[in-house]
Amino acid sequence: MNIQRINILKLSNKSKLTYNIIALLALGLLASTTVAYFHVKANLHDAVQNEQQIKATTTSNKLTSWLENNLSLVEAFADTLANSSTLIRGNELYEFYLNQVKKSRQFDYLAFALEEDGYYKVNDWEVPPSYDPRIRPWYQASKQAMIPTITPPHIGAEEGANTYIAATAPIIKSQKFMGVVVGEVTLGYVQKTILGMKLDYDGFAFLIDDKGTILVHPTELQVGKSIFELEDIASQDMQQLSEGRIVEGDGYLYSLANIANTKWRLIVAAEKTQLSDVLVNETISLLTHFLLIFLLIMMLFVFSNRKIFSPLIDWLERDTNTNLPNKKSFKQQATDSFLTRKSPGMLAIVSMDHFNYLTAAYSQNEVIQLLNQIKMRLESLLIHRSLLGQFSESRFIAYVNWEQDTNDRVMLRWLQSMADKLSAPYKVNQRQIHCTFSIGACCFPDQGVDIDDLIDNAFTVIANESRSGISSCGIFSPSMNQRLGGELIITSAMKSAIGNNEFYMQYQPQYDYEKRRIVSLEALIRWNSKELGRTVSPGEFIPIAEDSALIILLGDFVIDTVIKQIKHWNEIGLEFGKVSINISPKQLLKPGFTEDLLAKLARQGLSSRQIELEVTETSVLDNPDKGIAILKQLANAGFNLALDDFGTGYSSLEYLKLMPVDKLKIDRAFIRDLAVNNKDSAIAKIIVDMGSALGYQVLAEGVETKEQLDILASFGCNVIQGFYYSKPLHVADLESKLSNRESTCEIISY
Ligand code: C2E
Ligand code: MG
Ligand code: MG
Repeated sequence: MNIQRINILKLSNKSKLTYNIIALLALGLLASTTVAYFHVKANLHDAVQNEQQIKATTTSNKLTSWLENNLSLVEAFADTLANSSTLIRGNELYEFYLNQVKKSRQFDYLAFALEEDGYYKVNDWEVPPSYDPRIRPWYQASKQAMIPTITPPHIGAEEGANTYIAATAPIIKSQKFMGVVVGEVTLGYVQKTILGMKLDYDGFAFLIDDKGTILVHPTELQVGKSIFELEDIASQDMQQLSEGRIVEGDGYLYSLANIANTKWRLIVAAEKTQLSDVLVNETISLLTHFLLIFLLIMMLFVFSNRKIFSPLIDWLERDTNTNLPNKKSFKQQATDSFLTRKSPGMLAIVSMDHFNYLTAAYSQNEVIQLLNQIKMRLESLLIHRSLLGQFSESRFIAYVNWEQDTNDRVMLRWLQSMADKLSAPYKVNQRQIHCTFSIGACCFPDQGVDIDDLIDNAFTVIANESRSGISSCGIFSPSMNQRLGGELIITSAMKSAIGNNEFYMQYQPQYDYEKRRIVSLEALIRWNSKELGRTVSPGEFIPIAEDSALIILLGDFVIDTVIKQIKHWNEIGLEFGKVSINISPKQLLKPGFTEDLLAKLARQGLSSRQIELEVTETSVLDNPDKGIAILKQLANAGFNLALDDFGTGYSSLEYLKLMPVDKLKIDRAFIRDLAVNNKDSAIAKIIVDMGSALGYQVLAEGVETKEQLDILASFGCNVIQGFYYSKPLHVADLESKLSNRESTCEIISY
C-alpha cells in the first residue's frame, strides 16, 4: 500500500475566504475602474467643451472687436461723407484721409464708391476704367444691408488677387442711399488669429459662413468646401443657439462661437479618436492609482489575515489540542471532497478507550501531548487522499479513499494493522502510556450515503466491539444494528429482572486433584428472564450490563447473595474453602469498593478469608495506577485475588509483577484444544511454569476431558475447574454434593 502523508483535497474554508476576499477586491477594482472610465469620459467631454468654448469665445471676441473697430471707422467716414457740404469727388481732404488710414495699416484699402455714376475712390490702387464698384459683392451687400456691415470674403478685382473681407458702411444723405464706404483687409489677420489659436487635445479652429462653407481652415484645401454636419447649425440664427453649443459629428466634436456683425461662425474642433486616446490614458492613470490602493489593501489584508482571520478561522474550524479539522469542518470537507464526488472510501472513527481514566491519571498537558502523538501516528498510517479530523476530545475521524474494488478483507486487515500500531505504548514526559482503541468503520457508498449515516454506522461498530482490553476494530454490517437493538431489549429486561428477583447464583467447584477435594467455588450469576421467556447466559448480559450502571446493581446483588450464602453454609457447617466472586471493572474502580465489601462482611460477621475476588487483567490495566492500588487494598484486607481469563489480555509481565494476585486462571481458550494444538499446550505450560515460579496458584478453567486433565497434571497444574469435575450447580445440588463428600471423586458426565 502506498503510504504517504495525507493531503486535503478541497479548498479549506480559510482558502475559500481568502479567495473570496481577493475576488471581492478585484471586483471592487473592476467596478471602480468602470466608474472611473465613465467619470473621466464625462469629465473629458466637459473639459473639452469648456476649453473649446472659452477659446472660441475669446477668439471670436477678439475678431468681433477688431471688426467693430473697422466698422466704426468706415461708419464714421461714411457719416462724414454724407454730411459733407463740399463736393466729394476730387476732394483732397478725403484723399488725405484715405492715405492716412492706409498708413495706419488698419485697412489694406479704404475706398468709397458712389451710386450715382460708380465713382470710386481708393487710397492705393489705380482703378481701371472698366471697374464699376457697384457690381462688387461688398457694394451690393452693403446696399442691401443699409447698415454698417462686414460682408462675406471676396476675391480682389485684380487677377490673382487676395481674398478680402470688407467693412462697409452705406453713405446715406437725407435718407437717400448715396454710395458705400469700404475698408478692406486681406483674410490674413483673421486667418492668423484663428489658425494661431492654441488648443488642447490636438484640436483646431476654422471659420464657416452661414451656408457652412469653410472660409478659413488650417488645411488650405478645405477652404471653400462645406461641412455637411455643420450646415444645419450654420444657417440657424446664432441667437437661437444656446451658448457653448457642442455639435457631435461622426469624427469630431465641434464648439461654435458667433462673430458679431457677421454671419460667420468660429468652430473649434476636436478629433474624437484623439479624445478616446486621452480617455484611455486618463483611465489608465486612474487605474494605476486604484491598483496602488488595491495593493495597499491587499498588503493590509495579508497582514490582518495572518493576525486576525487565520486564528479566528482556526478557532472555528480546528481542534485546539491537535489542530485537526473539528467535527463540523471534517463533515463539510469529507462531503465536499469525497461524498459529492462519489469517491468510494471508508469512514473510520478511532475512539480511545477509557479516556476519562487517562484524563484522571495524567495532567491536561500530558493528555494533549498524547493526543498529538496519536494524531502523528494516524497521519503516518493514513494513505494518500485521506482526510483526518478530530471528532471529539477522545475520538479521531478519518475518511480513507479506497480503490473501487477494494474488498472488506483488505480494509479490515488495514484497520487491524492500524489498531495494532496505535496500541504500541506512547511516551510522554518519560512515562509510558498504554492506550487501546476501538475503531469502527463504514464504507461509502455501500453502507451509508451521507456523512451522518456513515458516522452513525461507524459508531454502531464501536458499540458492537467487545471490551476485551485490547484494541479492536470492525467494519459495519447491517446486522450490527439488529444486535444493538437486541442489546437494548436485554437492558430493559434486566432492569425489571432485578426487582423481580429473576437473578440467582450457581456455584462451580474448583478442584485440587492432588488433594482430591474441592478447594473453592466460583459464584456464577444466572438469569431466567420472564420478559424474554428464556434463560440468558451471563456471557450475553454481563457485557451489556457493563456498558451501564446496571453492572453495579448486579454486582451488589451477587456480593450480597454470596455473603448470605457463606453465612448460611458456615452456620450449617459446610466446608467449601473459599467462594470466588467475579468483579467487573466498573465495580472494582467504584470509589469505596473495598470499604463497602468489608462493611458487608462485617455486618454478617464474616471474614475476608473466605472470599476470593476474580478480576481480569484488563479491568485493572485500564487504569493501572488506580487498579493496582485497589488490588493492594483488597490484598491487605485479606482477600484472595485471582486473575481471571489469564492469557487473553495484556499478559504483561511488567504489570503482573505489580499486581498482588494469588491465583492465575488459565483461560478456557487455551484448554479447549490443549490435546490437539501444540501452541495452546505450550502457552498453558508456560503459564503454569511461570505462575508456579512466581509463587502463584495456577488454575485451569474449562477442563472438560480426562485428556486435558492429564496434560495439565503433567505440567504441574493442580487446580482444575470445568465440566470434567462439575458444572456450575444450584445451591441445593452443591450442598448435597459437599455434604455427601461426593466432591472427592464424582465426575459429572455431560
Ligand atoms: P468466567 O468468570 O471465566 O467464568 C467461567 C465460565 O466458564 C462460566 O460461564 C462457566 O460456566 C464456564 N465453564 C466452566 N467450566 C466449563 C467447561 O468445562 N466448559 C465450558 N464450555 N464452560 C465452562 P458462565 O457462567 O456462562 O459465565 C461467563 C462469564 O460471565 C464469566 O466468565 C464471567 O466473566 C461472567 N460472569 C458470570 N457470573 C458473573 C458474576 O456474578 N459477576 C460478574 N461480574 N461476571 C460474571
Ligand atoms: Mg470467573
Ligand atoms: Mg474465566
